[in-house]
Amino acid sequence: MLGLIQEKQLLIHTLIDYAADYHGRTEIVTRTVEGPIHRYTYADARQRSKQLANALTRLGVKLGDRIGTLAWNTHRHLECYYGVSGLGAVLHTLNPRLFPEQIVYIANHAEDSYIFVDLTFVPLLEKVQDELKSVKGIVVMTDSAHMPQTTLKNVHCYEDLLAAESTEFEWPEFDEKTASSLCYTSGTTGNPKGVLYQHRSTVLHSFAACMGDCLGLTSRDAVLPVVPMFHANAWGLAYAAPMCGAKLVLPGKDLDGKSVYDLMADEKVTMSAGVPTVWLMLLNYMEEHGLGLPDMSRTVIGGSAAPASMIRTFETKYDVTVIHAWGMTEMSPLGTSGVMTKAIEQLPFEEQLPYKAKQGRVIYGVELKITDDEDNELPRDGVAFGNLLTRGYWITNGYFKGEGGNVLDNGNWFNTGDVATLDEDGFMTITDRAKDVIKSGGEWISSIDLENAAMGHPAVAEAAVIGIFHPKWDERPLLCIVTKAGKDVSKDDIMAFLDGKIAKWWMPDDVQFVDEIPHTATGKIQKTTLREQFKDYTLPTAQTAAD
Ligand code: AMP
Repeated sequence: MLGLIQEKQLLIHTLIDYAADYHGRTEIVTRTVEGPIHRYTYADARQRSKQLANALTRLGVKLGDRIGTLAWNTHRHLECYYGVSGLGAVLHTLNPRLFPEQIVYIANHAEDSYIFVDLTFVPLLEKVQDELKSVKGIVVMTDSAHMPQTTLKNVHCYEDLLAAESTEFEWPEFDEKTASSLCYTSGTTGNPKGVLYQHRSTVLHSFAACMGDCLGLTSRDAVLPVVPMFHANAWGLAYAAPMCGAKLVLPGKDLDGKSVYDLMADEKVTMSAGVPTVWLMLLNYMEEHGLGLPDMSRTVIGGSAAPASMIRTFETKYDVTVIHAWGMTEMSPLGTSGVMTKAIEQLPFEEQLPYKAKQGRVIYGVELKITDDEDNELPRDGVAFGNLLTRGYWITNGYFKGEGGNVLDNGNWFNTGDVATLDEDGFMTITDRAKDVIKSGGEWISSIDLENAAMGHPAVAEAAVIGIFHPKWDERPLLCIVTKAGKDVSKDDIMAFLDGKIAKWWMPDDVQFVDEIPHTATGKIQKTTLREQFKDYTLPTAQTAAD
């Protein structure tokens, strides 16, 4: 017997409709690429998203067409989120931090028909436009006063396009399983692969993001996503904020400590989200200038492991609760969220810290399990670690155009490529990416744990650990360190600091001081480049072992 409930498709336009109808006066504030602060409301955002949908229709865009963006977090990009997907076309957020050849590959693979581009990236597109095979036109996301002299062909001015259109547009109804947006993974090996989201998965993911034990968004929040809208949909915030009518503060292109701080302070931001490198810049700026953030209640840190030292600074010095979250592009992206249990919350802070440094607890809608290399499920005891597998309402079931073949096992589980522990309270701890784990004498050393421990040293700005060949143990850890400006520290100081904080056999065999640690286009440590950098390096311990 079926239940007697109305059939209504879960479509993305309903999010902006709800925000405009019931939180219509709530603000969206943008630091524009042109410079000035722009303010308007959810009601305005819906009207302009509809104008955009009319403009796209006039350009001949149809259901399923891919529309690329090369854009920062701004109100215009937000309008693309709703105008493009609302129409039934697919919003393809290109990551401008990738190499131009990768961008060309991705835009051609996706068969983007139009690309919406911020002023910053016009020179980039000019250089590669002749290689873009499917692109019929480019829309520069600015007004006529700021339109640049450009060699781009078939170019339109965003504001002129919108100005010519009516604000009346009836969002079409279609199957909730229709594709809504497309985001390519950075692909450390092989070509980038496209993750194709649905309207249904996106709306369900937004409900989850708002849950109290996930990001806990409400209409009383002012949310500043530092995480880019081209990185896994700004971790869902561009959808979740309208779903609950939270004020949105969009930082545009300036993500340095001062710019982010000023926006947070001026707009009374209560909640933010970003990768650890961004928070490092913000924390350094606040420390240098003796500033605080009285309105901020919490911040989400994810994308890479949040170092315990960073969590401590946010919580004890600035009274900002850290939500350490984990996920991936293939997961829309949220999988776990570090909201504490009641029992843990009552512990003294230093006893809570080990839990906060874990990647968080599994959220409703996502299933996780860990297995050994023979596919046997491992216990959820917080100790056993193995391959992390997932399935759920917003997890990919295959890459765009079948790239990478079948990615699910018989039980529909997707292998995340992460190695992790799970415990009985649902806490998950990433010990490594499967390919970064250091295999020493048949045992595994977690590069993330070592990095975390080293980051606790007051002179260390950033730390990265890679496995280096060792004649006796196969691999041993090499610790690479960037020191904080003006701080002096030796290998012996670091070794003495680590002593007692990690197992003896995990102690790095050497410490190398480097000027910079390479990062990927999504802010992760680029271990492939680091390994390449150290490919001719020999560990001091290798010689002794070989003798
Ligand atoms: P991406 O799809 O680019 O967001 O990358 C997803 C990958 O980033 C995951 O599979 C993890 O390896 C890594 N990652 C994301 N969040 C965290 C975290 N909190 N701690 C450690 N690694 C993380």
